Amino acid sequence: MYRSHTCGELNAASIGQEVKLSGWVQKIRDKGFMVWVDLRDRYGITQLIFDEERSSKELMEKAQKLGREFVIQVSGKVIERESKNTNIPTGEIEVLVDEVNILNTSLTPPFTIENETDGGEDLRMKYRYLDIRRNPVKNKLKFRHKVGMEVRNYLSNQDFVEVETPYLIKSTPEGARDFVVPSRMNEGQFYALPQSPQTFKQLLMVGGMDKYFQIVKCFRDEDLRADRQPEFTQIDCEMAFVEQEDILNIFEGLTRHLLKEINGVDVAEFPRMTYSEAMKKYGNDKPDIRFGMEFAELNDLAKNKGFNVFDQQELVVGIAVPGAASFTRKEIDKLISWVKRPQVGANGLVWAKYNEDGTLKSSVDKFYSEEDLKTWAEATSAKPGDLILLMAGDANKTRTQLSALRMHLGNELGLRKADEFAPLWVVDFPLLEWDEETNRFHAMHHPFTSPKKEDFALLETKLGEVRANAYDLVLNGNEIGGGSIRIHDKETQEKMFDYLGFTPEEAKAQFGFLMDAFQYGAPPHGGIAFGFDRLVAILGGQESIRDFIAFPKNNNGRDVMIDAPAKLDEAQLKELHLQVNYLEETSKNSQGK
Ligand code: ASP
Repeated sequence: MYRSHTCGELNAASIGQEVKLSGWVQKIRDKGFMVWVDLRDRYGITQLIFDEERSSKELMEKAQKLGREFVIQVSGKVIERESKNTNIPTGEIEVLVDEVNILNTSLTPPFTIENETDGGEDLRMKYRYLDIRRNPVKNKLKFRHKVGMEVRNYLSNQDFVEVETPYLIKSTPEGARDFVVPSRMNEGQFYALPQSPQTFKQLLMVGGMDKYFQIVKCFRDEDLRADRQPEFTQIDCEMAFVEQEDILNIFEGLTRHLLKEINGVDVAEFPRMTYSEAMKKYGNDKPDIRFGMEFAELNDLAKNKGFNVFDQQELVVGIAVPGAASFTRKEIDKLISWVKRPQVGANGLVWAKYNEDGTLKSSVDKFYSEEDLKTWAEATSAKPGDLILLMAGDANKTRTQLSALRMHLGNELGLRKADEFAPLWVVDFPLLEWDEETNRFHAMHHPFTSPKKEDFALLETKLGEVRANAYDLVLNGNEIGGGSIRIHDKETQEKMFDYLGFTPEEAKAQFGFLMDAFQYGAPPHGGIAFGFDRLVAILGGQESIRDFIAFPKNNNGRDVMIDAPAKLDEAQLKELHLQVNYLEETSKNSQGK
């Protein structure tokens, strides 16, 4: 028996007991006549004591030779500690050791394995198994487990069945590139790893499973913008005989259950906002509604007053920044440079201060009277003390730029509070979006999404205006879930592929299996998928998903611990019937969407 108790278990009630513990040596304090060792395992830390007066010479020597991260087993007696530590559950006791057994030695770890560490991110990723011994990482993995359990509980109680779907499949279009796997047994042919189990979950509905879910890995080969992972986890769900309303209700229920069980927070019914309203009010289809600063369109109030810069633009739009009238010239200039950075790409900002004394002063006083500025204040709902910021330009671009500024200010002013939760549904997304580059429509969600019945007529006339039965669940400015009611008949699905520029042959080759299945009594169905990593991070009050993943990849998609991806040796290539012929510029030229 390695242990009678864990290192987090013993307390004052255990005094007098003979115990056995196993774990890692976190810290050694050697006073010569006494040695204290902090022994750590997943459950906590227990202090061990070796005492010249009470321990043999041999035992003292053994204790003095222990090193950090040695794995040891000890037997001893629980005694009351002299100087107690009230911060940890085991802080009132220590174990007076009578036998120590070194189970394994350790090299000196490259960083300290304590809550606060001296190890930088790269080093901690290279030695991730050591990082996982630290509380901050270990606790996040435990937290993830807890969220996963609650998801499974809730969905099982609602009659959902968890079904696994294959990883070696054929391409599913979710808007990214596929990771591919060569087949040894089928020369010259490749599997694709699923970008999601989309087609399989639909086939499960044709198969009569009725309610499916799966906590599942998905693989998307995309440029890793901040905090994305090439493989990530979804809570993937699908239901038969449902309308949009049914799905929103069930998954609002799941989200509410999680907020209650995990965070102890009760949230009211989730507000709903159409896509077009979200874009108009927040310039963003995943608005953070924890703080105001809603957009006000000012074309009528700011154009044709002699200020040329505005007159020529499609849209003049503004926000009121609470309490920011006190910003200095320097602070405002900093904001102007911030929006001019290529990442945002705005031309500039016009500002108006609504001073505490009720007067108004702007950067464009030459063109606008105080009366004019008052109308801006009314439109943006600015109060005395607020700063009004205006942007102008092409409507869509300007909304996106102002949204970036709004989020930036939300962060800077501390308005995005981690312990506040503001979920909402964004509904009525456009079915298709026009891609200037390829000169054709793309599915905004994916090609299996059904158009709204009310918009069927527009399919023949104004494709770009057709709305979809698609919805996103947004939490604190993050899209945490998205889904749609699906097409479930062959004809509509064929038409959809046609709108998306597939020839009938291409559609059949890629998705014939799904359209075939639709001919055998496919029920009406729909679903949703949650980004599990992001959901866990948000519930855990963090922005970054990386620490909630045991073995994450870095921004170049590399696992620096196992050093992957890596080259294959000749023998393996041969077996796969592959020859690698590195093309220059491969990354730029051959990876079109
Ligand atoms: N497969 C979709 C996605 O990964 C989710 C869905 O439509 O259910 O975004």
